[in-house]
Amino acid sequence: MKLVLLGTTGYHANDRRQTACLMLPEAGVVLDAGTGFYRVCDYLATDTLDVFLTHAHLDHCVGLTYMFDVRYRTPLQRATAYAEPDRLEAIREHLFAKPLFPVHPPIDLAPLPPKVELADGGVLTHFPLRHPGESVGFRIDWPGRSLAYVTDTVASPDAAYVEHLHGVDLLVHESYFGDDEAEQAELTGHSCLGEVVKVAAKAQVGRLILVHINPLLENDDAIGLSEARQVFANTEIGVDRMEINF
Ligand SMILES: [Zn+2]
Ligand SMILES: [Zn+2]
Repeated sequence: MKLVLLGTTGYHANDRRQTACLMLPEAGVVLDAGTGFYRVCDYLATDTLDVFLTHAHLDHCVGLTYMFDVRYRTPLQRATAYAEPDRLEAIREHLFAKPLFPVHPPIDLAPLPPKVELADGGVLTHFPLRHPGESVGFRIDWPGRSLAYVTDTVASPDAAYVEHLHGVDLLVHESYFGDDEAEQAELTGHSCLGEVVKVAAKAQVGRLILVHINPLLENDDAIGLSEARQVFANTEIGVDRMEINF
């Protein structure tokens, strides 16, 4: 099973990172459509594309407007984006409003079903996350493999979402703030690394990859990985175009 990180920052892109976008090429699945979404063309291996959105903040959905190039550069037969109904409506009414983007991008919009059977045999489910405007986390289970994606929420080992992560082979979790910025994390609905590694340890996941990294950090040394690894050793920092086999 291969996961490709197409965008590993949040809020805005910087010279090293595009905003939130993950891809499972074998399944024809993309999780979030931030600015990294234009890179889908480089990895597409299926003739259908299913895009699952955690929420409708621009750093997670603006890439839907890049669909014209994706369709132009690939022989896609069908593309569908799924989100919770209210967030779908926000995208339809605002992102796709004529004064913002005059022609509807070539992708269907559909409400996120409770359970989705993917083309490669995986089963995708979702669960709510606390975030201003609300967000959802995703879990995908294949026979003998599992993945969870949690972004745009305040990490805490006591949070309700942690039970949905139990035992996954790979957890991709946001980590935006340092541990000295807990107040800001709470205010904006984001995570501090110290809490993220506690979540990974409590949920007994196999491997933790950090994404939605603060774009203002000048380099990855500022993230504090060695301290975090004392709590959960199998922690890595996600970088754009990183390919993870699990
Ligand atoms: Zn975000
Ligand atoms: Zn958000």
